Amino acid sequence: MKLADTPLTELRACPHCDALYRLVPLRSRERGTCPQCNHVLVSPRSNAFRRVIALSTAALVMLAVALFTPFLDLSAAGLHSDASIWDTAMTFSSGYLTPLAVAVVAFIIIIPALRLSLILYTLVPLSLNLPAARHAAGAYRLSEILHPWSMAEIFVIGVAVALVKIAGMASVAPGIAFWTFAALVIVIIWQESFLDSEQIWSAIDSSAPRVDEGAA
Ligand SMILES: [Zn+2]
Repeated sequence: MKLADTPLTELRACPHCDALYRLVPLRSRERGTCPQCNHVLVSPRSNAFRRVIALSTAALVMLAVALFTPFLDLSAAGLHSDASIWDTAMTFSSGYLTPLAVAVVAFIIIIPALRLSLILYTLVPLSLNLPAARHAAGAYRLSEILHPWSMAEIFVIGVAVALVKIAGMASVAPGIAFWTFAALVIVIIWQESFLDSEQIWSAIDSSAPRVDEGAA
C-alpha cells in the first residue's frame, strides 16, 4: 500500500526528522526505529503499564524519603551538620537565595513527583481495562513536556562531584537521602525502559469514551 492510501490513524511521523511511516504491529521487545535518524519510534513491552505503575509508585515513595532524611553528614573543625534537602531549602528560603531554593526543590522534587503522578493518573485506569481518565491525554502530554525538566539524576551527579571537591576540607559521609536518590535514578531509568509513548497514546485513543456514552 502506498503512503498516500494509508489511513491517517496508521501514519506516524518521526519526532526527530519528520519522516513519515506506516505503523505495523510489533510484538513485545521488538523495536521500530527510524531508518533516517535511528530514533526509536515504537518499543512495546508486555505488561508495560503495570511495571511502569509499580516503578512510578516506588519512585514517588523514594522522593518523599529523600526529601526529609539527612542528605550529607558533614563534620569540620568540631562543627557537625546532617541537614535534609527540605532543611537546606528552608535555610535559603529568605533573602536573595530564595529563587535558588525554589528552583532546587522544583527541579529535583516537585517536577519529578508531578511527572510520576501524571503517568500514574494516565496508566492506572488503562491497566485496569477501564476507560481512560477524563484528562488522560492532557496529563500524559504534560508529563512528556516535563521530562527534560526532571533533573533528579543531574542533581546526584552534581552532589557526587561536590563531595569529591569538599572531601579534603571536611569529613563527609553520604546520608540516607543520598543513597535513596542514587537508587531513585536507577528506578526512573528502569521505569522509562517500559514507557513507550506509542503504546500509551494508542491505549488512550482506543479507550477514549465515545461522545454518545456521556449523554446518559
Ligand atoms: Zn527520524
